[in-house]
Amino acid sequence: MRFSLHGGPCGHSCCLRVENVSVTIGSDPILQNINLHVHCGEMVALIGPNGAGKSTFLKTILGQQEYDGIIAFSEPGKRSKKPRIGYVPQSPAFDPSDPLSVADLFACCMSRRPAFLGLSGSMRELVAECLERVHGEDLIDKRVGTLSGGELQRVLLALALEPLPNILILDEPLSGVDIEGMENLMDMLDEIRKTYDLSILMTTHDFSMLDRYADQVVLIDRQVLISGKPETVLNSPEFSQAFHMKGGRA
Ligand code: ADP
Ligand code: MG
Repeated sequence: MRFSLHGGPCGHSCCLRVENVSVTIGSDPILQNINLHVHCGEMVALIGPNGAGKSTFLKTILGQQEYDGIIAFSEPGKRSKKPRIGYVPQSPAFDPSDPLSVADLFACCMSRRPAFLGLSGSMRELVAECLERVHGEDLIDKRVGTLSGGELQRVLLALALEPLPNILILDEPLSGVDIEGMENLMDMLDEIRKTYDLSILMTTHDFSMLDRYADQVVLIDRQVLISGKPETVLNSPEFSQAFHMKGGRA
């Protein structure tokens, strides 16, 4: 079953539909009538000023926030269902002196066995396979607190990709990553979405990457101000106004 904003065929093989989604926290309207479609294999960047509601929107899709409206996922030949979502949170801080290794982190997240018992052989193989997806095999025994911003993002990404999701959601993955790390991470996300035909929805403040990597950019400030191809959004008056620029793109 395929859907569009109006209930008809969407024209794409699979699709996350968000229709007229509004979120109110207390008496504060945080999001109003958000509409967007994310298709399989597509990378969609959600941008907006601080406090625009980007993280709240991601939490809503993750099912952590009550909302009004419709959030649905459909695949060809299948009934509308809950998608499997992989989530990479905004860079969590780890203590550099903490002995927790990357392997331990996977064990905590994926295994019922207490981390202090160490990793079983099969679990270690699975962790190595997960890290291979992000070209991070060499990180398995590193301490999490000593990883660079880019390495930590790759580890979190590897965790979010097991089991493989339909939609990968990342909140500000580029913050705290240097310019070379940003390009590496974006290249990797690009490769992952093509290899596994999954959709990526990410928030970012780094607009320089959008032309090259995003299929669709959605600018929000509590509501959708404009959405479309990167060049359309980045050159729009809505963009200049939202980021208080005088007639020019970032
Ligand atoms: P962004 O990620 O775009 O910076 P957020 O989604 O974090 O924005 O926040 C949007 C608005 O919602 C902010 O004004 C924030 O204070 C408010 N908000 C978010 N979560 C809560 C909450 N749990 N309780 C009250 N207000 C919240
Ligand atoms: Mg945020």
